[in-house]
Amino acid sequence: MKRRSRYESEADYYRVLPRHSLNTKQAVWTLIVATTLSLLGGLIELSLEARAVRTEVQQQTQQVLGLVSATAAEAAFQLNPTLAEQIVDGLFSAGNLERIELRDDFGRIMAQQQRPQQPPLSPLIYWLFGDLPEFHQPLEYRIDSNSPLESVGELRVQLASDVVGTTFIERSRLIFAVGVFKALGISLFVVLAFSLLITRPLLKIYDSIQQVDPEQPGRWPKPILNSHRKDELGKLVDALDQLLLAFQRGLEQRDRLHQMSTLDGLTGIANRRLFDATLLQAWQTARRSSQPISVLFMDIDNFKPYNDNYGHQAGDDCLRLVAKALVETVTRPADLLARFGGEEFVCVLPNTDKKGALSVAKRMHRAVLELNILHEYSDVEQVITVSVGIATARPGRHDGDPLVLLEEADQRLYRAKALGRNRIVWEDTPLEVEP
Ligand code: GH3
Ligand code: MG
Ligand code: MG
Repeated sequence: MKRRSRYESEADYYRVLPRHSLNTKQAVWTLIVATTLSLLGGLIELSLEARAVRTEVQQQTQQVLGLVSATAAEAAFQLNPTLAEQIVDGLFSAGNLERIELRDDFGRIMAQQQRPQQPPLSPLIYWLFGDLPEFHQPLEYRIDSNSPLESVGELRVQLASDVVGTTFIERSRLIFAVGVFKALGISLFVVLAFSLLITRPLLKIYDSIQQVDPEQPGRWPKPILNSHRKDELGKLVDALDQLLLAFQRGLEQRDRLHQMSTLDGLTGIANRRLFDATLLQAWQTARRSSQPISVLFMDIDNFKPYNDNYGHQAGDDCLRLVAKALVETVTRPADLLARFGGEEFVCVLPNTDKKGALSVAKRMHRAVLELNILHEYSDVEQVITVSVGIATARPGRHDGDPLVLLEEADQRLYRAKALGRNRIVWEDTPLEVEP
């Protein structure tokens, strides 16, 4: 079984799958970059926010402690446990304290509150707020306005890290959500801009390249990129245009050289070089397919006196007219008429037997006669005529040389001349001539 190629067809190869498209790649990469950047930015913002939360909470605590310190000092000075408990309960009810103690001057606890055991802190909260310091608010009391401040006790407060952490996380969520939306918005904008500014014009260029005719690359449908005329894309199109024009010139030169090497300069029909190559190819085909092949050898009769009397220019004109008349009788694409040199023409007729070759030769002979080119110095007619020699072969597998066939046609042409010109010879014995 024939192995299936990776691509079913060339068109398949050039079809860009959505997952390979520039737009998709751009979208994916923009999203990755924007998300990473917004995450990094978010992390920085969060660490700043965490620091702000710490400071804020500590300042608030300090403020509250400052506010209650006078009453707490009085409770400590009076050794009034009821007042002490009221103060402690009041502060504790705010809900963000882990532990609070009010101690007297001897370090004895007058009132305290402690939250019940909490589940362990999440690593993030532990990392950010696990080390919140314990606040020690000294309590000082002045017995009367003349006496100095005396230390009467202390308020010890430990903030609840989990409560501070939860407050922080709630605030962070918003910051994070805004960050992600920002990233998505920027990605969308960048993808759209990229698509409009780069992908679309690139696809336009790609479509035009797809339409390049390999025979006429210079006539490609050059894309018009109005807003990109002066940027890199515009320059790319110009460079492609120049390249394709250079290709076009190369091809034209190739065609000219090919023409020069295969066509006869005077008559415009095939030259001997092309004839030799065509004959060899036709011969090999005939060998393979066991088909007959024929060759005609033609020569204008008394052309030297024509040239001598009417001039070289008239001779050239005559050669052109004869070539045109002969080539117009060749109708099958495989047949080839060529100028062999001077006033001699040859014609190879692949897949043609003796009968077919004779009928072509007759047509050619008549076509020249019907040109009616005056030749008063001919010893056969008053007009230009040709003599023709025909050779036909059915080459076997081992018959190697088509030149033998050409030689045979030439010899029959020679016989036609010897027999009086203006005739066709296609057989040696019995000698058959026409007309
Ligand atoms: P024949 O009937 O035996 O063929 O006699 P001929 O005079 O045609 O043959 P010959 O070979 O003696 O003369 C060929 C002449 O063809 C010689 C030359 O004057 C002329 N000739 C050959 N090539 C050209 C050409 O390119 N241009 C012109 N004008 N004449 C040419
Ligand atoms: Mg000759
Ligand atoms: Mg001649």
